[in-house]
Amino acid sequence: MARPDQPFDPAIPFALPDIGRAEIDAVTAVLESRWLTTGGRAAEFEERFRNAVEAPHAVALNSCTAALHLALEAVGVGPGDLVFVPAYTFAASAEVVRYLGARPVLLDVDPVTLNLCAETLEAAVEEAERAGERSKAVIPVHIAGVPCEMADIWEVARRHDLAVIEDAAHAFPAARDGVTTGWMPDDIVGAVCFSFYATKTITTGEGGMLVTNSAELADRVRTMSLHGLSRQAWNRYASGGSWRYDIVAPGYKYNLTDVAAAMGLAQLARAGEMRDRRAAIGRVYSEAFAGLPLVTPTVPHGCESAWHLYLLRVDPEFGASRDDLITSLSKRGIGTSVHFIPLHLHPYYREEFGYVPTDLPVATAEFQKVLSLPIYSAMSDADVDRVAAAVRESVS
Ligand SMILES: *Cc1c(COP(=O)(O)O)cnc(C)c1O
Repeated sequence: MARPDQPFDPAIPFALPDIGRAEIDAVTAVLESRWLTTGGRAAEFEERFRNAVEAPHAVALNSCTAALHLALEAVGVGPGDLVFVPAYTFAASAEVVRYLGARPVLLDVDPVTLNLCAETLEAAVEEAERAGERSKAVIPVHIAGVPCEMADIWEVARRHDLAVIEDAAHAFPAARDGVTTGWMPDDIVGAVCFSFYATKTITTGEGGMLVTNSAELADRVRTMSLHGLSRQAWNRYASGGSWRYDIVAPGYKYNLTDVAAAMGLAQLARAGEMRDRRAAIGRVYSEAFAGLPLVTPTVPHGCESAWHLYLLRVDPEFGASRDDLITSLSKRGIGTSVHFIPLHLHPYYREEFGYVPTDLPVATAEFQKVLSLPIYSAMSDADVDRVAAAVRESVS
């Protein structure tokens, strides 16, 4: 139905989850089973997900933020430690460092991929070493679903004894140089954290998954995800389970429900198909924008992007503005978003750590140009064409 303020109805939202019969049936079956909290579906989701990303251990959690928090806790990050985080990311990647009383050191990013690169990391670690500070971990973020150059980051981590906690909230399914995002070498300490938030590439409404090469780290995360109990509620309440448990640490409440896990299993089965659809939408956009004063996303050689986001950049040198494009698309009924307002520009990080915009010039400059277009598998070909046409009309 046409609304007076939206002449081009129906509006195309920025994001829409791709929910079909399989998801609805899977959730219904859980409701009918009456086992609603963490149980058999969550265990199966862990098993299938870790196989999909070629990781030996997985723990299902209720968000990627929880996964990042528990990963940092498990590698022993504590008060006064330094954790290196790219500034170009969402709030979650750095707030978890503060949960543990450690200090997030915000780093600038590569102007093409907007990812953290190994050279920037190593320079920052060496500067911290000279200042006599304790560098503990790094949180690379795979922006838009393009994996960072992990081989180089792992080298820096080996040289400087850093734990590596990957924020892979955008990066399922993804790979670089044949290495699936989720896999990590045996000699690296850390974890890879995925998000199943409502807008992400597969969703459980709210949810996350931590994968790791270490059984010990996975055990610690599992314990801390459920009140620091030595046993899971699944074991306690299942037939044959024992009423006995020990509290071994003051843990958190971060477990994933079976309702959510059932939805995740259905989404996981379609993850490849949905990714292919997003990649096809990305190709249509980039072809449609050729020759326009816009910068389309680059996927570096060897990368298989998850295509979580389509990051379009409007260069002010072309005489156009990102903000005007967002307004114009909005008038045409097209939802957009901006990923991200870099962390060092936010009041908390400015006031707490004294950052100014010029500290991280690439992140500051690229943020001014960027907007995200709708890219999700539930879009029809007509939706995609309408977005492309609206962008063309708006900039010409
Ligand atoms: C969405 C997102 C998160 C947080 O994921 P949740 O599952 O909502 O906790 C973390 N990092 C990045 C880069 C994200 O985009």
